[in-house]
Amino acid sequence: MRHKLRLEGVVTPDDMRRQYVYLPFQLPPGARRLAVNYHYDNQVTGAQETTAGNNIDVGIFDVRGADFLTGGFRGWSGGARSSFFVEPRAATPGYIRGPLQPGEWTLIFGCSKIEDPAVHYRVHIDVDLDVLSAPADDRAEVPTPGAPNERSLPGAADGRGRWYRGDLHAHSEHSDGANTVDEIVDYTRRVGLDYFALTDHNTVSHWDDLARLNTGDAPLLIAGEEITMYGGHANVWGLDGWIDFRGSDSDKVRRLVDEAHRRGSMFSINHPDSPIPWKHPSIRSYQAVEVWNAPWRWFNEPALLRWVAHLDAGERMVAVGGSDSHCVPPAKMTQPNGPGEPCSWVYVAGPLGERAVLDAVAAGHVFVSEDPTGPFIELRADADGDGIFETLPGDRIDAPAGRSVRFHITYRGPDGKHIRLFGRDGLVREVTPETEEHDSEFELRLEGDGYLRAEVRGFRGRPERGEVVHALTNPIYWGAW
Ligand SMILES: [Zn+2]
Ligand SMILES: [Zn+2]
Repeated sequence: MRHKLRLEGVVTPDDMRRQYVYLPFQLPPGARRLAVNYHYDNQVTGAQETTAGNNIDVGIFDVRGADFLTGGFRGWSGGARSSFFVEPRAATPGYIRGPLQPGEWTLIFGCSKIEDPAVHYRVHIDVDLDVLSAPADDRAEVPTPGAPNERSLPGAADGRGRWYRGDLHAHSEHSDGANTVDEIVDYTRRVGLDYFALTDHNTVSHWDDLARLNTGDAPLLIAGEEITMYGGHANVWGLDGWIDFRGSDSDKVRRLVDEAHRRGSMFSINHPDSPIPWKHPSIRSYQAVEVWNAPWRWFNEPALLRWVAHLDAGERMVAVGGSDSHCVPPAKMTQPNGPGEPCSWVYVAGPLGERAVLDAVAAGHVFVSEDPTGPFIELRADADGDGIFETLPGDRIDAPAGRSVRFHITYRGPDGKHIRLFGRDGLVREVTPETEEHDSEFELRLEGDGYLRAEVRGFRGRPERGEVVHALTNPIYWGAW
């Protein structure tokens, strides 16, 4: 038997200012399938940043309520789909399978773009009822996708640390990506990534596939979520479950940052100066900035300056990269890069587990290169003068002011590129390797509170387009950091 519900109404530009509209409805007992489809006037076709029209995102909460941070999240598809279903043992990608508890459920509209004065919407909710035997499932717990990931890959045979290649930002069909998780993981294996975080928008339904595919072969798969707010995007990795995305004002965004910290994750703001910018200048409690999103391009330059401004203000802030990949073959390639472009390298000693990768990111033991083949750039310091360069980017040198410290650069990449070392007062030193394997050392007198970081730049294509970044490191700090 099918129970049909119809919701109809209007959203306005005022709803866009409020961001979310909630449409509660009653789910009858005995439901074994909930199917929703929705339509509205003058829907944008193409990128909503540049195309006229309206866009209404969609998601759903179950009987546990729709409160901020504690709601019973059951899925989100943004603007990527006009229909979805939830069943006890299956759901549309983006949605969480599980019990269809009878009672009040809530459809949520995200009014990301409402240009017309009144946008009429129609929602069809079809509930298949099992009239003969009400499923006992409706009293079961909603499963948490992807149990915590305890798996790890063996570390370097000699037990010493090494750099691992990975990507911290990508999407699958569980949000607006084109591929299944299997296809993407297969691709990351072929390009040689050691770890890979899949960060679908506002959902965690992709975590079950990650758990299934985390077999002990590279890459190590990390469960992530891109918190996709209308005032900016941010990645969180390694959580124990879904985290809310409804940061509709700065106070709520601050609470989301705190929540990510409380649950052992980092809050890393994404593409902050792109056409989808970060709009919360008063919040500075996040720990990382995605300075490099997709192939190096114009909006990464202000993101890099934003990160440097954090450093110059005396804040420890980690620079990361993210491919933000939405497609790999066999899907149609709608963007030029795949996972690993750029590549975020993390330094890990011992086995490569999720906690080890995330601890390395949190520590700033990270450099970013344009793809998994490099260029490789390493900056180290010999903090105690014993001839061993043990200090890595992200580390702090504890030395009395005025001491000279030796630094070592290791570069593996095309010759003729410029390795520039920057500190608090700007450019400190420039080296242009004449060979593809370059090692050099120099001494620097440490005064006050400072840092040193490396950037590799050069031309890609026509010189009049200017230099791009081929690789960059996090800083080595000293003084009061
Ligand atoms: Zn984003
Ligand atoms: Zn993204």
